[in-house]
This record gives sequence, C-alpha cells and structure tokens, in this order.
Amino acid sequence: MFDTLDQVIARIGEGQRFLVIGHIRPDGDDISSVASLVMILRKAGKVAEGCIADGDSPFLERLDRTQVIKGVDALRDYAYDTAITVDASELARIGTAAELLEGRAPDITLDHHKSNLGYGKINFCDPAHAATAMIVYEIGEQLIEFDKELAEMLLLGIATDTGFFRYASADERVFAYAARLVRDGADIGRITEAVLEHRTLNEIRLVTAMLGTLQLSADGRLATAYVTAEMIEHAGCTDDDTSGLIGEIRSIAGVEVAVMFIESPKGTVHISLRSKNTVDVSEIALQFNGGGHARAAGCSCAEVKLEDLMKAVTAAAEGAIDAAFPC
Ligand code: AMP
Ligand code: MN
Ligand code: MN
Repeated sequence: MFDTLDQVIARIGEGQRFLVIGHIRPDGDDISSVASLVMILRKAGKVAEGCIADGDSPFLERLDRTQVIKGVDALRDYAYDTAITVDASELARIGTAAELLEGRAPDITLDHHKSNLGYGKINFCDPAHAATAMIVYEIGEQLIEFDKELAEMLLLGIATDTGFFRYASADERVFAYAARLVRDGADIGRITEAVLEHRTLNEIRLVTAMLGTLQLSADGRLATAYVTAEMIEHAGCTDDDTSGLIGEIRSIAGVEVAVMFIESPKGTVHISLRSKNTVDVSEIALQFNGGGHARAAGCSCAEVKLEDLMKAVTAAAEGAIDAAFPC
C-alpha cells in the first residue's frame, strides 16, 4: 500500500504546478510541512501554492511567512497538475480543501500517522518519523539547498511534534536534523516564542474555566476535562485557542491518559487524547472514527450530546487503562 520516497521524488520531478494541502485544526507540523514543501518546490523552479482549509495559521504571521498558505476560496481558480497532502491520515482531515481535488485522489500523500489510510496515488507514510516535516526535509535535501527561512520553517514542525524535544519521539534523527537546520540558520528561540509565548489573557481564562471541570479516575491514571461552546465564547476565545488545553491536564503527576472534550460549535465535539508511556490512544480514537499516534490522537463527532460522548469515551479510556495496568 505504501511507496518509497524515491517514487515520491520521481513523481515530483514530473510535475510543474503543485497544490500542497494540510489538515484542519492545523498544528505546527502541519503548517511547517505545507509551508516548507511550497518553499522547496518554488526553489526547485516549480509553481506551488499551499492550502489549509481552516485556521489562520498564527505561527506563520509571527514567522513572517504569511504568503505561502492560503484558504480554499483563494485557490479555486488555481490550475495544478500535482496535488500533495501532508500530515493528513485520511481525506476527511483536509476538510473543505477536498473541494479543490474535484473528486480525484491526491497524487501524493506524505504522512507519519500510524492510522494512515493510503488514500493517494503515491503514498509515503512512516510513523518512525517524529514529524511530517522530517519527510519534507528529506525531500528538500534531494532537490535544493536549505536557506535560513526554509530551515526555520522545517524546524517548526520538528520542534512542535516532539513537544519541543521532550517526547520519546525525539530520537537521534530528530536532533541530527535539528542540528543541521540550526547550522543553516534556524532560530529555535524565535520558534519557541512564536508558538509557546503568545497566550492571550482570554486563553488563560479558558484554561481556568476548563480546570473547573477536571476529573481524575482509574486510580488517578485518567484525567478528563471539557470546554463547552458557551465556555469558549464566554472567555472571548475561538476554536483556535483550544489546542493547548490538553497539555495542561496531561502534565498531572500519575496521569497516563488525558482526554479533552472541546465542544465547538454547539453539537460538534472534538476529542483530544494524549498518553505518557503505555496506552496507545490512537486505538481509543479509532473506536470513535478518529485516529492519530500512540501518544497523541483525536476524533471529531457531530450531532452528539457532550454528556453522552464523555461517558462513552471515558469508559473506553478506562478500559484501555485497565488492560494496560492489570492489577
Ligand atoms: P489534536 O488532539 O487535535 O491535537 O490531535 C492530535 C492528533 O490526533 C493529530 O496530530 C492527528 O494525528 C490526530 N487526529 C486529531 N483529530 C483527528 C480526526 N478527526 N481524525 C483522525 N485523526 C485525528
Ligand atoms: Mn498534525
Ligand atoms: Mn504531524
């Protein structure tokens, strides 16, 4: 089902006009992978545009790279011969950007999710890569010379998907690539500030409200919490401000699995799952039509009652914890 990076490079060689598409609820790796691949393709003499269907990509603005990623409407008349999705395990993950494909499968998919469905014509997916940006790095390395801007954009994805080099996924290759990118001019301080030090007072208010819903169960190994659409609105926040919430409860001592329920808009719930060492949370997400990695997974459910969903997911998480820690 999966192809080699050489096949990907050969197919890129055949294309002239590229559309690079990332996933909805974009994270740093997604933004990095789309922006870096567009920069690489342009440097290689191709025409390339990047698209993410929702989210304003705030890091991009802070890293002075706003011109590389556009919304769906800005690209409706853009003619391309090669569509590439990045960091998206299935077509549904690209949201309304799928409209730009007009029913065709993407020509290339590049990903590192265990749950990847191989939905493109050529598919490269390797969960041993800590970030999709590392796959983009390997493609770039074969096509062009890295400059400071590209190096920094690539490092954004590697830094964010490894929790700023804190997770077990931060292996030797992660540090080797990061070292090379720093040598090429990437400034990790700028990335850290752009991603971690831009919290607003409203986001802190939302964290405070969320902490009021925190519950521990399964002998303290499971932490769950939620924010409702009303709580988000009351704090003056949007959906974009909710991605950091899960980290707050994952960090509790003794917690192995953290689950955050984010209702936004009303009737639609996004569930973020994280684990520390043992439980594969992608297995839990799969039960609710989501997916992801062993340590970070998610799913989104429409037309559900938050309470009912919380009961079902909490029970599934408790079951997974019981299986992982038999007493
Ligand atoms: P999040 O909790 O939204 O930060 O997502 C964590 C990880 O779970 C992401 O990197 C994705 O790999 C995966 N993920 C999130 N939402 C979904 C979904 N609806 N379907 C499949 N995978 C998802
Ligand atoms: Mn991602
Ligand atoms: Mn990723």
